[in-house]
Amino acid sequence: MDHNKTIVWFRKDLRILDHPAFWEASKRGEVIPVYIWSPEDEMYAQLAEASKWWLHYSLKALSERLGKQGLQLIIRQGDSLSILKEIIYESQANSVFFNERYEPLIRKRDQQIKKLLMEENIKVKSFHGDLLYDPESITNHQSHPYKVFTPFWNHCIKRSIPAPLPIPSTIYSSKKKLNSLKVDDLGLISGMQWHKKLLHYWNPGEIGATSQFQMFINEKMVDYKSKRDDLKQYHVSQLSPHLAFGELSPRWIWYTLFNYETNEMDVKGISFLRQLIWREFSYHQLINNPQCVETPIRSEYNHFPWEDDEHLFELWKKGETGYPIVDAGMRELWETGYMHNRVRMVVASFLVKHLLIPWKKGADWFKETLVDFDLANNTMGWQWVSGCGVDAAPYFRIFNPVLQGEKFDRDGSYVRKWIPELSDIPNKYIHQPWKTPKEILHNYGIVLGLTYPYPVIDHSYARQRALEAYHYISEAKVHISSGD
Ligand SMILES: Cc1cc2nc3c(=O)[nH]c(=O)nc-3n(C[C@H](O)[C@H](O)[C@H](O)COP(=O)(O)OP(=O)(O)OC[C@H]3O[C@@H](n4cnc5c(N)ncnc54)[C@H](O)[C@@H]3O)c2cc1C
Repeated sequence: MDHNKTIVWFRKDLRILDHPAFWEASKRGEVIPVYIWSPEDEMYAQLAEASKWWLHYSLKALSERLGKQGLQLIIRQGDSLSILKEIIYESQANSVFFNERYEPLIRKRDQQIKKLLMEENIKVKSFHGDLLYDPESITNHQSHPYKVFTPFWNHCIKRSIPAPLPIPSTIYSSKKKLNSLKVDDLGLISGMQWHKKLLHYWNPGEIGATSQFQMFINEKMVDYKSKRDDLKQYHVSQLSPHLAFGELSPRWIWYTLFNYETNEMDVKGISFLRQLIWREFSYHQLINNPQCVETPIRSEYNHFPWEDDEHLFELWKKGETGYPIVDAGMRELWETGYMHNRVRMVVASFLVKHLLIPWKKGADWFKETLVDFDLANNTMGWQWVSGCGVDAAPYFRIFNPVLQGEKFDRDGSYVRKWIPELSDIPNKYIHQPWKTPKEILHNYGIVLGLTYPYPVIDHSYARQRALEAYHYISEAKVHISSGD
């Protein structure tokens, strides 16, 4: 055994199972686990409110988990490079290992840090482990990035994935006592009244992630394919925040569901694994279109005639648009920091196509409020719904919020759960309360415009207006490409 001392720099990989940097460091000698809170360094990947809440608890969980392995998580605050140098100096560490992140600006920063530390004779190594594949390594037959999901999926499932790594059986801790902040010192949740309730819904950390995954396999996976869009009772995994913070490795999920004896996917798990590949596809897009966080991938959308009405945006955020399925989704988000994928599509479409409010504003609100905020998934989700991303939903496919509600929340239980003031409305009217006969409303004390809003916009009018806007940019595209 060498007398190496390796700093393991934890970032969005707050776990110890299948953690390549941690595993490799533990094989070399002493391990010094470090977390650096450096919001300024994070640029566009800076965590917003809901994610900070998650981080607070996830760091506590990691710290406890490492403690059980005899390791102290060293928490510091400040510029990443300076802190790493400080800890190298104090601990006499000779190496820094970390798992790769894939947001282009963060990658650039990491490469710079790597270069500068290596110039000071520190061994720096980074590892892949938070995605199934290195998103840059995937290209089609013409050596171009994929723009369509299905060929991307067909390509991915033919590639092999390295087996996940166990928790190291022997770990050497540093004899030297280093100063560390406490998680509470970072002030991640100070003054956040809103977030107190989130603990009712979530259990951040690796243990929470593993039990959530187990519960999904035992109780929900069997019906995932047929029922994942059903809003009555969730048949989805709700693993997204755990994945966003790297508390569960996608390779671990893959190996649990892929039968390597028969070299086949567990048929029950295949639809679920497909969703994990959507996550890979998002990172593939982000890496190949680094500007997409701010601007549409399809350039004609730069000319989109947005209306951008601030008052309507506020009503959307609060869940007061008068369309129950939209409002239920926005209220679920505010209450839990999560929203079901089907409803994310509906509320995003409503914002962009019904209200003509720029997708970036919606994406920013999601960033603020989602506990599973993920730069790649969120950007791709919004660009997909808006029609301006690769392999996106065509702009002219405009979700009708009433029909979406009737299809995926057939008996209205989702709406009733999040909008209790509508709970007495009969199923027939639950997705369009403005059609409810007056005497029924009266009997249940519902006064439209007072206890629940009228629709902020008429669907047919909004649809027609959105189509006109789409025609406008389609024309613009013709002019742009013909040099007008
Ligand atoms: C407008 C919009 C914004 C979104 N923003 C985010 C975001 O910030 N963070 C985020 O993780 N997902 C985002 N998604 C994708 C998707 O809605 C969530 O991943 C999913 O709802 C999470 O719930 P789950 O874990 O129960 O999903 P499951 O159905 O159980 O899927 C398992 C995992 O697969 C991945 N996945 C599932 N669907 C998608 C998808 N469409 N795209 C990419 N990966 C997917 C997620 O990591 C998810 O946890 C967004 C989608 C839309 C339409």
